[in-house]
Amino acid sequence: MSAMPQELSCILERLQAQPIERGSRTYWQGQWMGQSVVAVLSRVGKVAAATTAACLIEHFGVDQVVFSGVAGSLDAQVHVGDVVVANALLQHDVDASPLFPKYEIALTGKSIFPTDVQLTQELTGAVSQCLPEIQSKMQSEGLWQQLGSRARPIALHQGLILSGDQFISSASKSEELKRQLPSALAVEMECAAVAQVCSDYGVPFAALRIISDRANDSAHLDFGQFIDTVAAPFGAHVIEAFVAQRGESQKGQDRA
Ligand code: SAH
Repeated sequence: MSAMPQELSCILERLQAQPIERGSRTYWQGQWMGQSVVAVLSRVGKVAAATTAACLIEHFGVDQVVFSGVAGSLDAQVHVGDVVVANALLQHDVDASPLFPKYEIALTGKSIFPTDVQLTQELTGAVSQCLPEIQSKMQSEGLWQQLGSRARPIALHQGLILSGDQFISSASKSEELKRQLPSALAVEMECAAVAQVCSDYGVPFAALRIISDRANDSAHLDFGQFIDTVAAPFGAHVIEAFVAQRGESQKGQDRA
């Protein structure tokens, strides 16, 4: 799953798939390196992402969900261009207090939804495998310089990602989120909703986010340009490595 068209189109370039229309979404169903996959654009926001995830599970019968997209950083150590793999997700705009504790999803008793440990480990492995190649590609194309990060290698982080139906673009809002949820590394608009749906269905979920901005007033570089030139190809490359890895491990299992 991806939230933005540029992200999905980079994946579709690599995949042989048939489009299937359902609920105002196009689901691309096909084979990728021997794996049955469905690629889809969720659109932006929690409801859009949740209905898409439910359809993937109910209609297409997927047994694992992986999300790739961009996010704003909430941590001084997490820089534009870095990758955050989620190990847990929380909806920062949920507050039914005093009926339920702040952030808790009513009637679930949960505010934090962990990602699947095995799938997350595999996704982290795919990111690590791709990082050197992506970094040298970005350097040779001059993209690295645009990020103002010449001296610093791309870092891979793992931790809590927040989702809410707001694009966070002020320092005061991101500082408030960080104060309330100090372990949060990044903020975006979809994955905690997908995690909730996957938890309801017992379907393993993993997510990666490439940091596109600092969730504040400072525009480091053009958001759209960053998605086109850096995040979308980067994300697709990682997902391709992830799918390839799964194919290899399946072959290993078949041989055993
Ligand atoms: N300007 C874009 C809007 C996209 S919304 C457009 O016209 O299409 C931003 C997308 O990036 C969402 O999918 C969200 O998950 C992610 N995102 C990146 N930075 C974010 C931030 N600072 N706050 C919230 N979401 C962010």
